[in-house]
Amino acid sequence: MLNVLRPAIFLDRDGVINRNRPDHVKCWAEFEFMPGALQALRQLARLSWPLVVVSNQAIIGRGLANRQTVDEIHANMVFAIQEARGRVDAVLYCPHRPDEHCDCRKPQPGLLLQAAEHLHLDLARSYLIGDAETDVQAAQAAGCQAILVLDAFWALVLL
Ligand SMILES: [Mg+2]
Ligand SMILES: [Zn+2]
Repeated sequence: MLNVLRPAIFLDRDGVINRNRPDHVKCWAEFEFMPGALQALRQLARLSWPLVVVSNQAIIGRGLANRQTVDEIHANMVFAIQEARGRVDAVLYCPHRPDEHCDCRKPQPGLLLQAAEHLHLDLARSYLIGDAETDVQAAQAAGCQAILVLDAFWALVLL
């Protein structure tokens, strides 16, 4: 059998798809798309590559939101992206607190490795778009290319 691995585009969530909040996004009402993000996601959806969200959500480990609420936020996010003719093929998140020392909280590469296994991805040809040094570190640890977004990043994607 031919073992075909596909490249993917990994997307951080907070600060890339939606605005960061100092008090965290704890419910859908607090979720606000970054300017240009929906249009950029529509552009990215033209590629045949899987689009995979990888996000640290320690709010679960800290007891600020439960998994059901975070899953609801993601279901609403994916629906809104689809309404804008974009797509997200998978959403993976780490629910742990930093002091739990798990292997999935970025800068660890666990989420990327999980996605690679389940979706048969070629990490060496994949990209991670993030807004933090920890995103770059996770990408490097997984052997992906990292793209650190600047404020005008989504505007550039649209050019
Ligand atoms: Mg971020
Ligand atoms: Zn974790």
